[in-house]
Amino acid sequence: MNASASNNFDVIVVGGGMVGATLAAALGGSGLKTAVVETGEQPTAVAVDADFDLRISSLNLAAVRLLSDIGAWPLIPEARRCAFRRIEAWDEHDRGGIHFDAQELDLPEFGYFVENRLLSHAVWQRLEALLNVSLFTATGPVALRTDSDQAELELSSGEALTAGLVVGADGATSTIRDLARIETVDHDYQQRALIINVTTRLPQQDVSWQRFTADGPQAMLPLPGHRASLVWYGTPEQTRELEQLDDAALKEAIERDFPPRLGGIDSVLGRGSFPIRRRHARRYVTERVALVGDAAHVIHPLAGQGLNLGLQDAATLATELTAAKARGGDPGDRHVLSRYARRRRPQVQAMIAATEGFHRLFTGPAPLRLAGNVALGLADRLTLGKRLMMRIALGLVPN
Ligand SMILES: Cc1cc2nc3c(=O)[nH]c(=O)nc-3n(C[C@H](O)[C@H](O)[C@H](O)COP(=O)(O)OP(=O)(O)OC[C@H]3O[C@@H](n4cnc5c(N)ncnc54)[C@H](O)[C@@H]3O)c2cc1C
Repeated sequence: MNASASNNFDVIVVGGGMVGATLAAALGGSGLKTAVVETGEQPTAVAVDADFDLRISSLNLAAVRLLSDIGAWPLIPEARRCAFRRIEAWDEHDRGGIHFDAQELDLPEFGYFVENRLLSHAVWQRLEALLNVSLFTATGPVALRTDSDQAELELSSGEALTAGLVVGADGATSTIRDLARIETVDHDYQQRALIINVTTRLPQQDVSWQRFTADGPQAMLPLPGHRASLVWYGTPEQTRELEQLDDAALKEAIERDFPPRLGGIDSVLGRGSFPIRRRHARRYVTERVALVGDAAHVIHPLAGQGLNLGLQDAATLATELTAAKARGGDPGDRHVLSRYARRRRPQVQAMIAATEGFHRLFTGPAPLRLAGNVALGLADRLTLGKRLMMRIALGLVPN
C-alpha cells in the first residue's frame, strides 16, 4: 500500500462523532496535519424550531469550557440548550432526597443539556474552517498496519493514509480497537434505557432529577420551556412493553409511575430505547494507536458522564500531542501515548467505580437497596458524602 504525499498525516482520527471531531478541532492550532475518517456523512444543520432529538447529553462545565476553547459552543443556539442549576435524587419511595444547588459551589450552573446532533454539527463547522484538518466521510478503515515508524490505514474507499498516530474514536464497537487487537472487559447490565421526549404542564427549566428504583433509575432532564427528556431504565422486557404503547397509554404510564414532581404530561413527542452496557479497553494505547471516548470506555449512563469522560480524553490527548509537536517530537512516540493513558485511565476507573456503586446500591438485593436509600438520605446531611456525590455529578471523580 502506498500513500501519496497528500495522504500522509501526523494524526488520523477514525470516527468523527462528538469525541473524535472535538479532538481534531482541538488539534487545530497545533500545526499537526490531521485527518478525520468517518463512516457517516457530515452532520447537517438543524432548524432552530425543529423538534428536539431523543439523543441528548448532559455536559459538565469542563466539557463546555473545552467546546468554547475550540469555538464550537457559541455555534449551538441558546434556544436549544438548557442550563441546569439543581440536581435532586430520591429513593423509590420518594424518600431520602439529596439536593444539590450550583449556588452552594458558587457556580452559575452545573452544566447544560444539549442534543448530540447539534453538538456534532457545531464541532464539524469548526473542522471545516481548519486548514490543517482533512475530512474523509462515508468511508472507514479496512486494514491497519503499524511499525515503529508509522501507521498505515487502508480505507473502504480504496484510499491509503499514513500517519504517526491513528486514534480510534469510532465508538463502542471500535474497528480500530479490533484492528489493533486491544481486548475489552464487557458487562451487560440486562437493562435498557427508554428515552421519552415530552411536553410537560410544569416548566422544568433548571432542575434535573432522578429517582432510584429496584428496576433502575427514572430521570428527568430539562429541555428549554415546557419540554423534558425522560429516561426510564428497566429490564429489556419491561422497556419493550413500554416502548410499544401508543402515545396516550405511554403518557398514562409515565403519569402513574414517575414521581409526582414531574406534574402532568401534555404530549409524548418521541421515544426510543438503548441497551446498557459497560465496556472497558484493557489498554488505551498500543504501537502508534490511541483510543478515546466510547472506543476506550462505555459506562452506565445513570450519572450522564460517558461523553464528558470522552471529551476529557480528547482534551488530554490534544494537550500531549500539541506539546510533543512543540518539542519537535513524534505524535506517535510511545512516551507521549503512555503519558496520555496514565493521565486518563485512573479518572475513568474512578468514574466506573462510582457509577457501578450507584447501580449496585439501588438495583442489588433488598438489604443493599435499603443501605442505598439510607445512604442517600444521610449523604444529604453529611457534608463529605454530599461533596463526593456533587463531584461525581460535576465529572470531578474522587482521586
Ligand atoms: C441512553 C444514553 C444516555 C447518555 N447520556 C449521556 C449524558 O447525559 N452525558 C454524557 O456525558 N454521556 C451520555 N451518554 C454517553 C454518550 O452518549 C457517549 O459516551 C458518547 O456518545 C460517546 O461519543 P464518541 O464520539 O466516543 O462515540 P460515538 O458517539 O459512538 O461516535 C463514534 C463515531 O464514529 C463513527 N464510526 C463508527 N465506526 C467507524 C469506523 N469503522 N470508521 C469510521 N468511523 C466510524 C460513527 O459514525 C460515529 O460518528 C449516554 C449514553 C446512552 C446510551
